[in-house]
Amino acid sequence: MNYCDDEGFLVGAQKALENPMKAYSKMESEIRGCSQLRCSECGQKVLHFEGKTPKRIYTPQEMKVLYHETGLQDAVMDYEADPLRRLYGCACSWCAISKYPESCLEMRLDSGPFWYCSGHTHS
Ligand SMILES: [Zn+2]
Ligand SMILES: [Zn+2]
Repeated sequence: MNYCDDEGFLVGAQKALENPMKAYSKMESEIRGCSQLRCSECGQKVLHFEGKTPKRIYTPQEMKVLYHETGLQDAVMDYEADPLRRLYGCACSWCAISKYPESCLEMRLDSGPFWYCSGHTHS
């Protein structure tokens, strides 16, 4: 297994989400998001949605049910204000990365939720 450098990144929808097989290396010129995120709170794989926003605020208990029943599909709707945002969700929390402001194009995982790169099969 190989792991993303710098704990991995979350990125907005205009930035490439990495090849699931390949970890991000900081030697690369462009930051790529990690596609193999896992949550250390709920233990689930982190799902991602382009141009979406949560329909409302969900309790962690509700998110757990929605995650297992619909893969959170029933909990999200189109976010017209920013189609380039990428929404990430696990069975307990959300995080959205937007094109506005510029500094939010990407976020280091060590500043985000309790998510980590769970490893990629190739370097
Ligand atoms: Zn990764
Ligand atoms: Zn979680």
